[in-house]
Amino acid sequence: MPAEKATAIVLRTVEFSETSLVVVLFTREFGKVRGLAKGARRLKGPFESALDLLAQCRIVFLRKSSEALDLLTEAKLLRRFRPAGRDLASLYAGYYVAELLGELTDDYDPHPELFDLADQTLVALSAGEPVANRVLRFELGALRLLGHLPSLDACAECGASVPLAGRVAFGASDGGVLCAACRPGKQEVVSVTAGSLRAMAQLADLESPAWRRLGIDHRSRGELRGVLNHYLCNLLGHKPRMHEYL
Ligand SMILES: [Zn+2]
Repeated sequence: MPAEKATAIVLRTVEFSETSLVVVLFTREFGKVRGLAKGARRLKGPFESALDLLAQCRIVFLRKSSEALDLLTEAKLLRRFRPAGRDLASLYAGYYVAELLGELTDDYDPHPELFDLADQTLVALSAGEPVANRVLRFELGALRLLGHLPSLDACAECGASVPLAGRVAFGASDGGVLCAACRPGKQEVVSVTAGSLRAMAQLADLESPAWRRLGIDHRSRGELRGVLNHYLCNLLGHKPRMHEYL
């Protein structure tokens, strides 16, 4: 059984015994990994309290066959997640990043760019950057990288270009905007302003820093949250636990 090395973000820890933890990690190299960390609840040992929620660490683990949990043998802390002033909004946003990484990805399905986006998001939240836009950027960037980005300017049903003016129909279960011909009879349709759709496209554009200059007022932010909450609930088949804290 070869030992693997990876850089990981701690998504979840569950007490397994008096001294051990089961840990869910999102690694840059292998995607999501679940492992047993024997002795991790002792202060001294091969884990040195590195397995803190949202901490980034360098891990060594033994990959087990199919059903069994991997065995974590070492974790070295690279950085803890400690928002400045223990700001609750930043902390909850961090928990939400962990929840989405856990829910949207599969075990052993690596997405290094998503790892980097999560890493940048956690660093920005720790540094006290405005939370709401950072969360939107992470959600839309993650959806793009995982191939789940809703269609924002072409009808999700027929592919026709949808003019971005006034209010536009958005079908959460259809995968994006709908043209006037496809709209009738559809379920789960909300109406979104063209401005919010343009903002979503900028937030999802990972090549461009233009989203940083977006002035999103209170009302638009409420609308964006509403649309994304609805879309993500549909995609995941349930409401993310952290939605009520955003
Ligand atoms: Zn259509």
